[in-house]
Amino acid sequence: MSVVQMVKIVGLGAVALTLSVEWLGWLFCRLWPRKISRGPLKEVFFFPTEVACTERLFTPDSPFPCPCPLPHNVNTSFTRLLGHILSASSSLDLCVFAFTNLDLSRAVLALHTRGISIRILTDMDYTLITGSQIGAIRRAGICVRCDSGAVHMHHKFAVVDGRRLITGSLNWTLTAIQSNKENILVTEEPDLVLPFITEFKRLWDVNDPARRHLPSIAEKTASLVL
Ligand SMILES: [Zn+2]
Repeated sequence: MSVVQMVKIVGLGAVALTLSVEWLGWLFCRLWPRKISRGPLKEVFFFPTEVACTERLFTPDSPFPCPCPLPHNVNTSFTRLLGHILSASSSLDLCVFAFTNLDLSRAVLALHTRGISIRILTDMDYTLITGSQIGAIRRAGICVRCDSGAVHMHHKFAVVDGRRLITGSLNWTLTAIQSNKENILVTEEPDLVLPFITEFKRLWDVNDPARRHLPSIAEKTASLVL
């Protein structure tokens, strides 16, 4: 075999190898586009949102069409938010200032019925507003703790299954969803999710009713001196 023939064979081999790698890369991207190009889940929703029926999210296996007059099979910011909440398979930690929305309350109660572990932290003053769902949620047996500090517990975030963060300006109220200009960020980026998990745990522990009534060491010492 001459040198020229050898160079040709090596060249053709190199071209074939390059094309094979590119083709495999293209095929991989087509089969698993999200894993390759998008990384952890990241979504942003804005409100107000158009009103649409949410029944299918609660009863996905129902063979009957919903008879209500609202638009159906419409993907809105709210149906996507609701979908993320209802996607919980093990836990939901919710930290929310105002909670009056009936669909979101129904979602929380549905998760509770499915055996999902739920913890809700809210602002004491806002449990008393008209339409607050906190009472109904408590009566269902869901664990709720109220922050009664001098300033409002003004957070609006949820952590689903310890890995999906939902956060933004949106209170869980009808006004916020249908009238206000609001935003929601949904992410599974660990660097963003973990601080919220830590903050939830801190607030949850601080607002433990049992802990709140335990006398401090200083109080115990003072009572002994007296
Ligand atoms: Zn409907």
